[in-house]
Amino acid sequence: MTQSASDRLSLPSEIATAEQICGCSGVVQSTMRISNVALALILCGSSLVGCGGSKGETPTSPTGPQTGAPAASTSVRVSEVSFQDRTAAITWAPVAAATGYDILLGTSRGARDLGVVSVEGTTTHTLRDIPLTPIVNPVAGNVARAHWVTVLARNGVGVSANGPSAGLLMGDMKGIVDALFFYRGEYVPGYRGAGSFEAVGRPVAHGWPRGTQVRLRVASTFSSAQKNAIRMAMDQLNDAFSGALRVSVEDHEADLGVMRFEKGSVFLVQVSPAEVLRICGGPTGCMVGPNVASEVASGVVIEGGTSPTNLYPPSHEAGHGVGGLGHVQIRPPDQRDDSFPWFHFALMGKAYEGYGNGVFGVFAPWELDAIRAVYSAGLGAGSPRSEFVARGLVNP
Ligand SMILES: [Zn+2]
Repeated sequence: MTQSASDRLSLPSEIATAEQICGCSGVVQSTMRISNVALALILCGSSLVGCGGSKGETPTSPTGPQTGAPAASTSVRVSEVSFQDRTAAITWAPVAAATGYDILLGTSRGARDLGVVSVEGTTTHTLRDIPLTPIVNPVAGNVARAHWVTVLARNGVGVSANGPSAGLLMGDMKGIVDALFFYRGEYVPGYRGAGSFEAVGRPVAHGWPRGTQVRLRVASTFSSAQKNAIRMAMDQLNDAFSGALRVSVEDHEADLGVMRFEKGSVFLVQVSPAEVLRICGGPTGCMVGPNVASEVASGVVIEGGTSPTNLYPPSHEAGHGVGGLGHVQIRPPDQRDDSFPWFHFALMGKAYEGYGNGVFGVFAPWELDAIRAVYSAGLGAGSPRSEFVARGLVNP
């Protein structure tokens, strides 16, 4: 994390208590650093602080008599995580008798090895320049090593014990773009490393040419819940395409039961589990095209044999057919852990143990940020990877 005056991570030894700062001399101690000067101004400028009086006055507590350090903060919450901006909002409930809080960021629960931010008079803070969480187990589903956020309550007497920690992931947008548009890199589910296809990926982005009006035609056999999810996911794409492409969702009159290609359309149909296995070589479904290299501007999705309450498969296949998107994934160390309630699993990820992907059938905010970044840069289907590199959208 880089440091700024308003949002800096300091070492624990730099955190001063109210008494240390005010000292009732009216003079900030020369050994104090910038963050503590700011702290002193806040505290000493308050009418609640006794340090603003004449020299030699006995210091008083900011909050009346204090008999001990505050209790632990037990409500830390992570929200509004942006991989694009590398930020996250941290909020917590006020702790009785606390005058300030220390926000710890570490690589394990309660740790502070990635830094500490001290705040006064607030119960919310936006962390910035958050380090990326490396993917430590791509084969097992792109598991990331998490960061952990802990909030300590503090007053003039002391600092609270650790409360529970909240989990935080920080994905690399360049890696996410590479996976979605070029099937490349460690954000591809099951990335197999040097020598694999994912290590090289595709040289050119696939998809529909800019300006195309794409018709997504959905077979009547999908459940209303699945159709709603499909429409929501396509609304998300329309927004992320930034006007470069338009997709409309139409109810299709009947099941086709076969692959069908028609210019300008993506068909989303259901077939039997035996058929889907025969056609796709897998149990869930597949999609053919769009293939910009051969200018085949149509696609077909086969999906069959899954529960009508599973919203993931049809929306996922529509993401392939309409967006030309590849697979992408990053996930918490343990997806059954409730420490990551803010996290959205990728729609373009693969389903692991039934978690995450199937719940909503819509794109994660971080997938949409990646798609929007590409289209708003004027790129898309047919753009060579070198143009993505030139615009800083992927690493060389
Ligand atoms: Zn897929």
